[in-house]
Amino acid sequence: MSNDPADSNQALLQLLYRMPIGLVQAELDGTIELINPKAAQLLMPLCPNGQMQNLLAVLEQVAPKLRESIQQVDSADGLVCDRMRIPLSATLRVAMGPSVLALSLTKSRGSKLMAMISDVTLEVENEERQLARELRDAERIDYLTGLPNRAVVCDRIQDALDYPIADMGNCFAVLFINCDRFKQINDTLGHATGDKVLGLVADRLRRAIRVEREDLVARTGSDEFVVFVNHPASPEDVENIAKRILRSLDRPYRIGPDMLHCSISMGVVLQPKAEGDAGHILDDASIAMMQAKRAGGNCFVVFEPEMRREAVRLGNLEAELRRAIEESQFRVVYQPVIALQNLVALQGCHGVEALVRWQHPTRGLLPPSEFIGPAEECGLIGQIGEFVLRTACSQFVKWQQEMGPHAPETMAVNLSRDQLNDSRFVSTVKEILESSSMLPTQLQLEVTESLASQDTVVQSRLREIKAMGVSLALDDFGTGFSSLSCLHLLPIDTIKIDRSFVMEADVSPHHRVLIEATMLVAKSLGMHTVAEGIETPAQEALVRQLGCDNGQGYLFSKPLLPSDLVEWLTAVHPGKE
Ligand code: C2E
Ligand code: MG
Ligand code: MG
Repeated sequence: MSNDPADSNQALLQLLYRMPIGLVQAELDGTIELINPKAAQLLMPLCPNGQMQNLLAVLEQVAPKLRESIQQVDSADGLVCDRMRIPLSATLRVAMGPSVLALSLTKSRGSKLMAMISDVTLEVENEERQLARELRDAERIDYLTGLPNRAVVCDRIQDALDYPIADMGNCFAVLFINCDRFKQINDTLGHATGDKVLGLVADRLRRAIRVEREDLVARTGSDEFVVFVNHPASPEDVENIAKRILRSLDRPYRIGPDMLHCSISMGVVLQPKAEGDAGHILDDASIAMMQAKRAGGNCFVVFEPEMRREAVRLGNLEAELRRAIEESQFRVVYQPVIALQNLVALQGCHGVEALVRWQHPTRGLLPPSEFIGPAEECGLIGQIGEFVLRTACSQFVKWQQEMGPHAPETMAVNLSRDQLNDSRFVSTVKEILESSSMLPTQLQLEVTESLASQDTVVQSRLREIKAMGVSLALDDFGTGFSSLSCLHLLPIDTIKIDRSFVMEADVSPHHRVLIEATMLVAKSLGMHTVAEGIETPAQEALVRQLGCDNGQGYLFSKPLLPSDLVEWLTAVHPGKE
């Protein structure tokens, strides 16, 4: 074996000559001294006239700033460019040839230029494909939870509709999930907490589906998720999955030191019909979900075709309600609340309760049962409720001024959940009282059991209202969930016993005992009591005997227009000064 350096150099040159990468050695002005065949092949498309004496001249058209960079280069490392991408325009490309070159150029101490040129066409194509895939994924993956998004679940449903498995028909089910009162979490605890809850909901859903059966869970909207149940064995199978999900999501979430509860409402489409598309099926599932919300949430409802008709009706009703607000079609009527234990004036009017009515342009005067629920659902109850409060307060002050001692002493106004969830509510009440010059002690706000016992934010808002001097009544007592033993926890002054108990009081010992017990607890807590819906003298006699402070019902008066109430009051107290 030869140790002659000349031989080694020769061997190295041979190696460089055969390298599958282009190598060029040139003078500083670009004059080529050495070039291997690969470099010649790669650079050939850049030399239409076949001239390849000067590297910089060859690269001029694709890398015009190269000469400048060579002059400016830091002589220590000599690196002019490292794997600089040089895309070749269509005119410079040859069939099967490169479309992107990579150039590394160094200026050596001996004032030579060393260039390394390679074909990176495949590498760039791969990168582009990868980028396209990532972009496609980003379009189909929800960034917050990492779950597939609506587009993915729509595709999955559409595929199942378009390619039904033989003999099995469209064998899948869709569960549409919406978090209950999620807006409240966002509004009161902040969006960061809301996002954390959504992440935890997503985790529980991931665990609740049957991965082995290729079920899919997707996030389709802010607090909305969809589960695609693949090939369920039976409708009961789907219902069991729905129940499992409900149970799993009904458990509280730990967020930092706090435990947070966020139940869900679910709409289920059991046997999707082939004629509908994916969007249609999701709409059906969403309609059933709304039904579950109306039922109080934390439950699921299976879609039935009639629900679609009902949804259309509600949609129309919403439009009508908006117009009703704009065109002031709401009215307030007032029902007297009678002092039952007042021995001097047996039927003294203690106060009135304001009750809203809708003077519908074609359907006549509508009771609250026709529109309060839909107004709550479409977020319009706040405006209607504020109108009632404002009207009632100014009407009250008007009566005080006009009737003096004959005027009602208190005004009760019903509240909706949305009103109490609104952070501006307390200041709205304050503003209405001030602008109408009504004393806070003359106003009573009525809340239902489920509302009063809700989360701490609602409770603290109720306490703020109480601190202003406004009193609070628990409406429809007996129909909700809280029991007598919880009454002391609620910031209320008055309990209104629901009509359904009063109605049965004189015939059913069970109802009578309940009223009696309520009366005892209320007395011990220093609360007042009102019996609602008294229709007969027997009912009145009974609740009076049981110690109820006040009564309200058709026996005394139906809700009246302001002018009729004045007439009623004058008839009841003809001699009262
Ligand atoms: P509520 O607050 O318990 O009001 C009492 C309801 O019972 C009223 O029905 C009243 O007309 C009716 N009522 C009173 N005495 C009798 C009686 O002897 N027999 C019978 N059969 N019914 C009697 P209305 O006005 O239809 O109101 C129903 C519910 O709508 C109210 O129940 C209340 O929860 C809600 N509501 C009424 N006005 C408003 C409002 O301005 N805002 C909100 N958020 N809810 C309201
Ligand atoms: Mg009421
Ligand atoms: Mg009531």
